[in-house]
Amino acid sequence: MSFALEIKNLKKVYAGGTEALKGISLNVKEGDFYALLGPNGAGKSSTIGIIGTLVTKTSGSVKIFDVDIDENVAIAKSMLGVVSQEINFSQFEKVHDIVITQAGFYGIKKSIAEPKVEEMLKRLGLWDKRNDQARTLSGGYKRRLMIAKALIHEPKLLILDEPTAGVDIELRREMWSFLKEINEKGTTIILTTHYLEEAEQLCRNIGIIDYGEIVADTSMKDLLSRLDVQGFIMDLDKPLEKEPTVEGFELKLEDPSTLFAAVNKDKSINSLFGELNKLGIKVKSMRNESNRLEELFIEMIKKK
Ligand code: ADP
Repeated sequence: MSFALEIKNLKKVYAGGTEALKGISLNVKEGDFYALLGPNGAGKSSTIGIIGTLVTKTSGSVKIFDVDIDENVAIAKSMLGVVSQEINFSQFEKVHDIVITQAGFYGIKKSIAEPKVEEMLKRLGLWDKRNDQARTLSGGYKRRLMIAKALIHEPKLLILDEPTAGVDIELRREMWSFLKEINEKGTTIILTTHYLEEAEQLCRNIGIIDYGEIVADTSMKDLLSRLDVQGFIMDLDKPLEKEPTVEGFELKLEDPSTLFAAVNKDKSINSLFGELNKLGIKVKSMRNESNRLEELFIEMIKKK
């Protein structure tokens, strides 16, 4: 099995002492469309910064298509395109010139670069703006220019840090279809996001990072089936000594009179009431608790 990205035991401690990555390990298969999902401050940008060699790691290893970034950074980087969150071009240069200059960094001759740049700018809807100074572009178009820059040397692995943050919905959808298309043509893509919806639309596999640790590494399908669950908190008319068991429902006694139930969308809450009734348990009142569900979900993942 060939991996596009292999991360082993990666740690990052910033100068101030913040332990941003506590030793994460991840494998992304060649051809995959992988999401690294996590709340703000989880360690996503640090991970991407290290892969793109913009951030120095504290320890651990990173391989891009079997090439260790410590051993042969030039070869590793030639296979990698990174779209970071920060603007990485001169705002006073023209769109076309920025991408041509980037091609030059990778040793692509101007005569070869010209048609490639034209194709790329057309594909990203930037061709009409090719002679505009970059600073005049809207946020969404600046992001596209960064994608054009990251792709001009045809990397086998493209990594995007929150590609659609602050981008309006129409541009976001266009960007999604563009990314899907290049993935179908063979480019492995990894993106970070804190929108579950974005990951759901695009990605086959997903890693969830929280406080510098990977708490889940699974297929999108598996994750969604687990999220297909609603949480309910039920106040019972009499306290219970121990948790009841009802087949098909995950029950947890929060305190003797409060029962938490994780109910799959294909099951009805009425059938749970029926089963509890048979056990002599009566529910006084009930409320829906989505945050609890999130906690349970993270707990479930940690137990794995
Ligand atoms: P994310 O991209 O998931 O929001 P980051 O990787 O940016 O997470 O941040 C992870 C942790 O590292 C956070 O606590 C953040 O404050 C800290 N951090 C990020 N960059 C730096 C830095 N340059 N110096 C010190 N701490 C940093």
